[in-house]
This record gives sequence, C-alpha cells and structure tokens, in this order.
Amino acid sequence: MKRIKNWARTTFCRSKDIVYPRSEAEIVDLVRLCNENHTPLKVVGKAHSYNDIFCAGEEGVVVSLKKFSSVERVDRENATVTVQAGIDIPTLIRRLKPHNLSLKNLGTNVFDNIAGACSTGYHGSGIDFGIFVSDVVSMEVVTPTGEKRRIGREDEDFKAYAVGLGMLGIIVRVTLQCEPSYKLEVIEKQMSLEEIEARFSEFMAYRHFKFIWVPHTRNFMVWLAQKSDKEESSLWNKIYTYGIIGVLVNNFLHEALLFFASFKRERVPAINRFMSRILLPEKGKESRSVYASHWAFFLPHVLKQDVVEYAFKIEETFDVFREIIAMIEEKKIYVDTPIEVRFVKKDDYWMSPTQGEDVCFIGTKIHFPFGREPEYFRYFSHIDHILLKHRGRPHWGKQFRITKEDFQKNYPHWDKFWAFVDKEDPKGLFQNAFAKRLRGKV
Ligand SMILES: Cc1cc2nc3c(=O)[nH]c(=O)nc-3n(C[C@H](O)[C@H](O)[C@H](O)COP(=O)(O)OP(=O)(O)OC[C@H]3O[C@@H](n4cnc5c(N)ncnc54)[C@H](O)[C@@H]3O)c2cc1C
Repeated sequence: MKRIKNWARTTFCRSKDIVYPRSEAEIVDLVRLCNENHTPLKVVGKAHSYNDIFCAGEEGVVVSLKKFSSVERVDRENATVTVQAGIDIPTLIRRLKPHNLSLKNLGTNVFDNIAGACSTGYHGSGIDFGIFVSDVVSMEVVTPTGEKRRIGREDEDFKAYAVGLGMLGIIVRVTLQCEPSYKLEVIEKQMSLEEIEARFSEFMAYRHFKFIWVPHTRNFMVWLAQKSDKEESSLWNKIYTYGIIGVLVNNFLHEALLFFASFKRERVPAINRFMSRILLPEKGKESRSVYASHWAFFLPHVLKQDVVEYAFKIEETFDVFREIIAMIEEKKIYVDTPIEVRFVKKDDYWMSPTQGEDVCFIGTKIHFPFGREPEYFRYFSHIDHILLKHRGRPHWGKQFRITKEDFQKNYPHWDKFWAFVDKEDPKGLFQNAFAKRLRGKV
C-alpha cells in the first residue's frame, strides 16, 4: 500500500501502487492493463489541490508523469510550446527563457503541474484573461479505454476536456500559447473598500488587478500589474520582497505568531493588525516594483493552510464581499489570513467555474501553524452558504461542501459532462471517491 499526501496536508490517500511511466507507450500499456483488470487509476500532478481530487482509492493505482516531462517543441514564430504533460510550471518557465517566451498569466502558486492546472481550472487575476487552460492550443489524451486522441481548442469536445477534473483519461501532451517575455510593474496601495469600489472600473482596466482585506481591520490593499519597459527592480529588492518579507516575515514570523494564537484565538486580530503594518504599504503611499512576469505573479507559500474559493457574477463582488465581512464580525470568527478577490474572463468549458460569465473569485483561508488546526468548520460552512446563495461555483482544487443539486443548478452543462465521462469511461476507472461525492453516489 502506498501513501500520498497533498501539499497542505489536508488530504492523505492510500493506493495499491504509484507508477512513474517514462514514455507514451508505457502510459498506453498501463491504461489498457488497468482497463482489462478493472483497476481504478488516477493521475497526480503536484498534489497541490486541497481536496482528494487526485486520489485513486485503496484498490487503485496512482500515476505520476514526473518522468514524462520534457519540452518537445518550441515554435518561436507562433509563440507556442509543446510539452509532455508531467512538466511543472517552474521548469517550463526556465525552458522558455532562452526562446524569449513567457506564460501569459499565472496564479500565486507557480509550482503546479501543467496538466493538473488545466484539469482544476487554475487561474490568476485580470479580466482580459481566462483560466489557465484558455491558453491551451491542443492536448493529447490517452482515453480511459487506452486510445489516443488529439483535441484542439476548436473541437466541440475541448469544452469537456478543458476542465476535465482528471476524469477523462491521461493528458499526455499539451501545446500552450505563450507570449514574448515581458516585465510587469506591480503597484500596491492601501485604500478603503469604498475607494476600491468607486475606482473599480479604473482598476479593472489594468492588465492584472486583485485586492485583499485583512480581517478584523479596516485595511484593504489593491494589487495592480501592468506591462512595462522600465528597468527591472534590483536584486536586493527581489531578495527583500520575496526572501525577507515574503518568506521570513509573511511565512515564518507569521507562523510563530499564529502558533501562540492557536492557544487563544482572541489574539488573532492583534496579529492581523501587526502583520498588516509590516506588509502593507503605508496609507496614502504606494509601492512600485518591476519584475519578470512570473516573479510578479508569485507569492511564496510555506505556511500550511486550507482554502475555500468560489466564483460568482462579477456584478455582485462588493455585495458578497460585504456579506462575508459582516458574517465574520457577527459570528465572531477569528480569521488569520487575508481574503483575496480576483477577476477572471468567461469561457465556454462545461465544468469551468467561469463558464458563461465573467467572474469574481473570493478566496478564504485558514492557517495551520506548526500543524495546529484551529476550528474552522463554522467559517468555511458560512462561506459556502453565502457563496451558494449567489450561485457560486467552487474552485475544483479547493474545499467545498455542496451537493449534487447545487452543482446541477449552477453548472448548465453538469449532466452533459457526466454523460460524456460515462461514455468515455464505461468502467468508471477514473471516477474516484471525489467524483462519486460530486455525483451524489456516496
Ligand atoms: C499554496 C497554494 C496556492 C495556490 N494558488 C492558486 C492560485 O493562485 N490559483 C488557482 O487557481 N489555484 C491555486 N492553488 C490550487 C492548485 O494550485 C490547483 O488546484 C492546481 O491546479 C493543482 O495542480 P496540481 O499539479 O497540484 O494537480 P493535482 O492536485 O495533483 O491534481 C489535480 C487534478 O488534475 C488531474 N491531473 C493531473 N495531471 C493530469 C494528467 N496528466 N492527465 C489528466 N488529469 C491530470 C488529477 O487527476 C486531479 O484530478 C493553490 C494551491 C496551493 C497549495
């Protein structure tokens, strides 16, 4: 029996075996063998999902493509790259650099596996950008019955495969649209929620825009990023921002302080005030830095956490946000992590949280300092409740406790997707416990 745990240590799963194929032929053989023997299987990317979406079950086999992870082709003229699906984002960024190419958009976690990011609807923030898979030109898949398929962005079936939740076989190859390497100027400003709301359309015109609130304070911060030809910030600036502030202060010092608060949660508001004094720019001032694009997106994460994140109609951003603030205050829930608000362009992928409408994503977290878990069931349940009221759709790689009926209501293509899965995978080999819960089968 083999054990896998995810990055956050919120999911532990056991499976009969973990296999590391090195070639496409090995992947096809494995799928066919599992098919003949009725053995469940599932691919794991970097196990960065917070839930058990990547688990195969005790009778199943987990497949890692980390040994099938080369860059196969770079097309400089069209700015595309074709990769074996086991590659992770940092390796791809390094391989693209000599070709003067970069990825178009990223979230704050820049360590995911490419196929894992596609399968869960991984996203960044900026209303001109869709979820990560929107930059996929085509993918090649070994279907659950062991056939090979190429699915281009123009194919109708791409709408099912794009955010496939790992249910439609093994993605073996991905061609991604990139763009010439670019720098981003990052601007951070502290301001009131009223001012953010008043200047909302001005901020939405930036290439990237998100904002955060530090719970139990009146401190909000806007994060904007725009393409820039300015000189990159100094190495010292990078060491200070990412090393000293990002890792030492925002992770290690924060973890130590939250450890003390884990014995007495009433200490959380004071810690939040203290951390926002150190981390946020002074009121009335702004901070500006220029980085290579991937550095600008990146936020160092060391301190373990659990996360809920939902997408809902962009027009409701401020109503929903105020409802969450009021809930935290009214229910006296101690929240130790900023709440993050991001914006993503709509698409037409059946299982995408951004299907059919431009959305706002609200992400809420709770930290686990040195493995200590505060009680947070109440917090996440209230968040689920508020966001569902607004027809929210959860991020597939994060936590949610909602029913099949909620999904059916909020995803117009829900039944069509699962009918497609059943057709492609008649033996249900890729349908793990996560899938069964979604479908109301357990
Ligand atoms: C610290 C942290 C920060 C994060 N920040 C963000 C963020 O900013 N934005 C965001 O959207 N998410 C974020 N996430 C969530 C997480 O990054 C995503 O859920 C991510 O896409 C998971 O990628 P993974 O490689 O770890 O996939 P896994 O969690 O390993 O797997 C996810 C799914 O992909 C499937 N899969 C993987 N490879 C293949 C393949 N080759 N073929 C078919 N299916 C496959 C798996 O079977 C599974 O169903 C964050 C997570 C962490 C831990």
